[in-house]
Amino acid sequence: MNNQASEKEKIRVRFAPSPTGYIHVGNARTALFNWLFARQNNGIFVLRVEDTDLERSREEYERNLIQDLRWLGLDWDEGPDIGGPYGPYRQSERLELYHKYAHQLLQEGKAYYCFCSQEELEREREAALAEGRMPVYSGKCRNIPLKDAEKRRSCGEPAAIRLKVPEEGIVAFYDLVRGHVEFDLKIIGDPIIVRSNGMPAYNYAVVIDDALMHITHVIRGEDHVSNTPRQILLYQAFGWPTPIFAHLSMVMGKDNTRLSKRHGATSVDQFRREGILAEALCNYLSFLGWSPPEGQEVLTLQQLVKLFDLNRVSRSAAIFDYEKLHWLNRQHIKKLSPEEKLNLALPYLEEAGLVSSPATEEQKTWLKKAVEILLEGVDKFSELPKKFELLFDFNPENLDQEAKEIIASSSARLVIKTFYQKIANLSEFNYETFARITGEIKKETGIKGRDLYHPLRVVLTARGSGLELDKFIPLLEEGARLQFPRRIIGCLERVKMMVSFLNL
Ligand code: GLU
Repeated sequence: MNNQASEKEKIRVRFAPSPTGYIHVGNARTALFNWLFARQNNGIFVLRVEDTDLERSREEYERNLIQDLRWLGLDWDEGPDIGGPYGPYRQSERLELYHKYAHQLLQEGKAYYCFCSQEELEREREAALAEGRMPVYSGKCRNIPLKDAEKRRSCGEPAAIRLKVPEEGIVAFYDLVRGHVEFDLKIIGDPIIVRSNGMPAYNYAVVIDDALMHITHVIRGEDHVSNTPRQILLYQAFGWPTPIFAHLSMVMGKDNTRLSKRHGATSVDQFRREGILAEALCNYLSFLGWSPPEGQEVLTLQQLVKLFDLNRVSRSAAIFDYEKLHWLNRQHIKKLSPEEKLNLALPYLEEAGLVSSPATEEQKTWLKKAVEILLEGVDKFSELPKKFELLFDFNPENLDQEAKEIIASSSARLVIKTFYQKIANLSEFNYETFARITGEIKKETGIKGRDLYHPLRVVLTARGSGLELDKFIPLLEEGARLQFPRRIIGCLERVKMMVSFLNL
């Protein structure tokens, strides 16, 4: 008995995506908030696939969304892939249920068949708009007796099913995010619950499912606020308790328009491919409309489970800030072990043709060091191959402006020339050699500091800025001894190439 009671009280939430495209950050945030709320309350997180839009739904998108949710680390307790006590969890497999309950409403006189054609409805709509009235269904078929309607149906006349809604009154609900919300029934009209092609309307299927799946809290995007009164009317028609609603504000770009491709990556899949860590993305998504009580910033999923508070979610629009996401990503990258960093980096380096797959153990040992050093200041893993150019690309003919300016002075040319003379006969080079030789140049020429080191950096890297040389030289020398698809040119050879290019 006790068990049953606690089972009944258990918090049950759901994420109900339509598999019509890649999962957008707005939806991912909805999934995350549901998941956090379920996990912190020892509740149940249900994944339900809303695929009744036959034209736009695709299996491929369902596969992707399952993969994206898994990647984010959001696991579900019931869903189309794992089943559960209230399945099936794919709407296209629940059509019988929708028909059964629609039939019940028809029998009880709470719903009716509507024979109006698309054209007729469109004409009514246009007329209403022209007269400045809300385009609400006129209720023309409302009073057709069920018997007559069934006769017409059995003769093959197509009909939708509409819910009978009181003509006057208010539907109100308390939204955990938005507070008191109410709608005047005058603007609602009798909504279609089953279309003439037999498919359930979203507002109807969602109620049947949420009720039969014992969903206690409906946490979803604000774009569904205006659907909520229609859904509440259905709960009322069935005499079912309504769940608690929480509508999350929309995710906007910095220019206050809805986040779209124009702003940058918007799908979870894109962020993953760019090399944003799942944990960093969840960390950032949690800040879209919520913030931790003490302003903490870098948080793991487990910490979020502890801190998240649905009651503190803000109703103002959430602005997506890519810079903040990148900053968080850098913080989460820092927490990874060298092995983890290497494993995440390898696909990007392979794709850029810098490393062939599989890399040898020797290469991996070196790559691990290189990744560790070059990841510094990198926002996302996809930027890493560009950073590796410092090691793989050396072309005296391609100096950047800064480098050209550094070596233009006569003192810079003197430094380079002297350096070359001192290394010309060496067969090995390392940082100690470099330090010794620069010491000698300093003594002999009196040139020191930036005037000494900057020209040498240009000689060794063909760039005006980059890594500190005490990190760069050992890394380059070690890399130059390994075989990569593109050869790494060692220091001595670089100096020779540069001197000959500069005609010194
Ligand atoms: N399938 C709907 C959507 O993706 C779900 C809405 C809801 O959560 O009720 O927008």
